[in-house]
Amino acid sequence: MKRLVILGCGESGAGTAVLGKQQGYDVFVSDKNPIADKYKQLLNAHQIPFEEGKHTADLLLNADEVMKSPGIPEKVEIVKAIRAKGILVVSEIEFAARYTNAVLIGITGSNGKSTTTTLIHHILVKAGYKAALVGNIGFSFALAVAQGGYDYYVIEISNFQLDDIHNFRPHIAVLLNITPDHLDRYNYEMKNYVHSKFRITENQTEKDYFIWCADNPVLQTEMQQRTLKAQCIPFSLTTAFPIGGSIINEQLTINQPNKPTFTMSIYELALQGKHNQHNSLAAGISANIVDVRNEIIRESMSDFENLEHRMEPVLTIKGIDFVNDSKATNINSTWFALESMTKPVIWIAGGLDKGNDYTVLQSLVKEKVKAIICMGKDNRKIHEAFARYVDMIANTQSADEAVQMAYQLGDKGDVVLLSPACASFDLFENYVDRGNKFKAAVKAL
Ligand code: ADP
Repeated sequence: MKRLVILGCGESGAGTAVLGKQQGYDVFVSDKNPIADKYKQLLNAHQIPFEEGKHTADLLLNADEVMKSPGIPEKVEIVKAIRAKGILVVSEIEFAARYTNAVLIGITGSNGKSTTTTLIHHILVKAGYKAALVGNIGFSFALAVAQGGYDYYVIEISNFQLDDIHNFRPHIAVLLNITPDHLDRYNYEMKNYVHSKFRITENQTEKDYFIWCADNPVLQTEMQQRTLKAQCIPFSLTTAFPIGGSIINEQLTINQPNKPTFTMSIYELALQGKHNQHNSLAAGISANIVDVRNEIIRESMSDFENLEHRMEPVLTIKGIDFVNDSKATNINSTWFALESMTKPVIWIAGGLDKGNDYTVLQSLVKEKVKAIICMGKDNRKIHEAFARYVDMIANTQSADEAVQMAYQLGDKGDVVLLSPACASFDLFENYVDRGNKFKAAVKAL
């Protein structure tokens, strides 16, 4: 019996353990931190042994194969020891894909993954397809494979999950954009980060599809230099392609060989904003490839409800709109948020900075932002980048304080936008906690 060791027992670790056991492995799970109760129950129910609060080398280095959870960095001692011994390390998507013949649709990029993944899933379900929504979005791909019964897996894929693939081959791969993020995990080398994202297509063949955003400068350059085996389908908000998707004169169009042209007015799209036009194009092309009928695609793209914490309108109080974009944890997503603003903005920003270069936001801030409210432990970089461009910058240390300050500064017709461009871990548990505390503070006004 082969021994499968699972490092880290969150959603993907627990799911892989269950699938591994089902496939006849001798499975052992090890987590340096306490394991959440729901995952312990799942392991117990499947009689899978585990340890928590430690990694016992003797129990781990005898593995035939190791599944490393995406959150665990390479520099961790046990990972180094496993690599040094030459044990095969795989990610959850690599492991799970081995045990299904369903169609795999993988979505990656620096921003827009969750939105696009959920939208594709919504279209397929409306079309009556048996489709599972899995991956980074929060539901284990491996667990869904263990449960079975799906013909399609729509998988949100982070680059960390791509780092340990070997044969993983999605039939459709979507690469939404590449902008600097997580550089701390790639030795601050953009080329390493770019390389990790492109791995989504490395095992694709001529029968597969690679859908990419031709408006993204990094992707443009890369696509000129790379030769891919998959059929490449670009999309753009400025250029029309004989094969591909575009939005020109407010009309979304998708052209693919041997299929009726798909068209739709952008005013019918449920998701608003330029970034979401990209996401809608990527989703429409994916659905079109798997033969969803045009009417269904059109209907699904107009009745889709966006996810929480992404440009989510909260309330309008005394004529001041409050918008929760807590999920904007990097500069690019905040750029799109500011770009879509049509009213004077009171911008709540800051948090844990992952090496941000704020200069790209300066002209938008100059044009649209009247005040900045920093909400973070260390706000120095924000002051340095923007002091010249706004009348007022204030420091706050909680969502309550930030919202009250914004309300005081606001006038009728303004918008208060929480779009932090930073991670949340200095003051909050995660972006969900940050968004919820923001919304609660707004509702308490
Ligand atoms: P991810 O799963 O990649 O983090 P989300 O769909 O959760 O992406 O969106 C994250 C943030 O990025 C939100 O603030 C959202 O408004 C913004 N966003 C969504 N799609 C895009 C896109 N295509 N380009 C840039 N920003 C985007």
